[in-house]
Amino acid sequence: MAALSFPFSSIQAPLLRAGKWSCSQIPRTRMNLKPLGLSQIGILAPIRRGFSSPRALADEEAAAKAAAAVAETGAPTIFDKIIKKEIPATIVYEDAKVLAFRDINPQAPVHILLIPKIRDGLTQLSKAEPRHAEILGHMLYTAKVVAEGEGISEGYRIVINNGPSACQSVYHLHLHIIGGRQMKWPAG
Ligand code: AMP
Repeated sequence: MAALSFPFSSIQAPLLRAGKWSCSQIPRTRMNLKPLGLSQIGILAPIRRGFSSPRALADEEAAAKAAAAVAETGAPTIFDKIIKKEIPATIVYEDAKVLAFRDINPQAPVHILLIPKIRDGLTQLSKAEPRHAEILGHMLYTAKVVAEGEGISEGYRIVINNGPSACQSVYHLHLHIIGGRQMKWPAG
C-alpha cells in the first residue's frame, strides 16, 4: 500500500477560503493502491470527488451505485467501524445516540459527519419510518450544537445524500455539516 496525505488545514483550507478552488476541484491528497472491498466503498468515493472531469464524475456515480446495490444486505459499513472505534476518526461530539466526526475528504474548512450510533434500518433517509422521528430530530438539533462548537453558526449547510442519484456512498444515515467558507447555490 502506498499512502500520501497532507493535512487539510495546511493546504486545502487556505485555498478554499481564498476562493481559489471550488469544492469539486479540491486535489486528491490520499492514494490507496490496495484493492478495496465493498465495505471500503466509503473511502473510494471521496477519492474520486477530488476531480471534476466527466470520467471522474462517472466513476463516482458508479461507486455510488455499487454501494447502493449492497445497502440492504445489513453488512456493516465503514461508519460501524468508527462507532466501534476500530478505525480512527476525529470525533468532535458524542452522546448516547449520535456520533459526529470530521469527514476524511473535507469539502470545506469545516466538514463533519453526524450519524446515529444505531442504524436501525436507517441506511438512508428514504427508509425512515415513524419510529425514527425522535432520532432524526435529535440529529438535526445536534447538528446545530456541533455547528456552534465549530464556530460556524453564522452560516453552514446541512446535507443528506439519499440514494445513488444523489451519490450516497455510505449506507448508514448521516448528515454532512459543512461550513467555514462561502457556499454557492444551487448545489451541484
Ligand atoms: P455520502 O457520499 O453522502 O454517503 O458521504 C459519505 C462520506 O463519508 C463522504 O463525504 C466521505 O468522505 C466520508 N467518509 C468515508 N469514509 C470515511 C472515514 N473513514 N472517515 C471519515 N469520513 C469518511
